[in-house]
Amino acid sequence: MSRSKSLFRSLICPPSSESIARAANAILEGKLIGMPTETVYGLAARGDMESAVDKIFAAKNRPRSNPLILHVADVEDAEHLFDIDASGIIAARLKRVHRFWPGPLTVVGPRDSQILDHVTAGGDTVAVRVPDHPVALELLRELKRLASRPIPVAAPSANRSNYISPTAPEHVAEGLGEEVAMVLDGGLCRVGLESTILFLGNASSSPRVLRSGGLSAEQLSEALGEPVGAPRQIQSSDSGDASPVAKESFVAAPGQFAKHYSPNTPVVLLSNDSGFAEQNSELPQNTTVPAPRVLRIVFGPLTREVSQGASEVWTLASDGRLERAAFELYGALRKADEGQFDRIEVVPCEETGIGIAIMDRLRRASQQE
Ligand code: AMP
Ligand code: MG
Repeated sequence: MSRSKSLFRSLICPPSSESIARAANAILEGKLIGMPTETVYGLAARGDMESAVDKIFAAKNRPRSNPLILHVADVEDAEHLFDIDASGIIAARLKRVHRFWPGPLTVVGPRDSQILDHVTAGGDTVAVRVPDHPVALELLRELKRLASRPIPVAAPSANRSNYISPTAPEHVAEGLGEEVAMVLDGGLCRVGLESTILFLGNASSSPRVLRSGGLSAEQLSEALGEPVGAPRQIQSSDSGDASPVAKESFVAAPGQFAKHYSPNTPVVLLSNDSGFAEQNSELPQNTTVPAPRVLRIVFGPLTREVSQGASEVWTLASDGRLERAAFELYGALRKADEGQFDRIEVVPCEETGIGIAIMDRLRRASQQE
């Protein structure tokens, strides 16, 4: 292990009461720490301090137009971050989705006046979540105890902007070791994909999913007792941050750019309905150019057919359970991006349940610059 790698690894702390207290103090002082959640690891800072929030944007090289999610310890603390009339339709919708907290649901609604513009990218809504991870919850409670009031924690995924989100403490230490005071070790993230984002809508518009995740639009619709709009799917012709999709999405889902979650190695989505060896064979035959080293990622069992034309085949969830595939996806993409392959090909999974979120992330990973 190189010196810097081992140095960064020493930032990873077991989640003892002592380290959680140290992490809470670091956050109160305006420092950044790596925080485990059930979705992905967050780059956590106090969300009520401009200079601390600034550090998040600088560390991630994140565009200022991309707002942050605030994390709190419970439903009551979450409610205080919104500006909602308790008798109104938005309050009623919020109450109906409380049951998903703690959990992989981010709710976007009208912001309370105390929320910083730095957090909301100047918009009039705020995104809030109660994470379902014992270490994150203990940290949020410890912060509250030390400050004698709830401290909302801004925590986007702990990776440089556009790279793959971290699902293990080592991913944070290796990617952002120079930026964080410490990383709390909460093990591997149980869900493995970012939260579902639900926009509560307003009196004249329905609630809408802005980003797919571990909770489906159907589950939310059932809880709300009304239809829930689905996120706009990106198309294979969409490209980069300046694309029409990015501009259009900006209105309701700032930061949901067409290209995102990308390894440095090109990712190519194959289609399920023709031979895999023939797809993407852009190199001429009978040439002296060495054949590209192709990794193929599949969901479900390995068959001779899915292996055709690939140097290596990895299966995520050979039992076909897409929750398992989501759990494994980002770790696999990081491993695939260590330089041993020229191209990562993916055979799509079924777009049901969490498969919708898996394919959303893979489409974004496969976008060209
Ligand atoms: P992450 O980078 O995974 O923490 O997710 C943050 C994402 O939440 C942003 O990229 C936005 O898409 C979304 N988000 C945060 N705040 C808002 C908001 N006020 N309105 C709409 N979307 C938001
Ligand atoms: Mg992110």
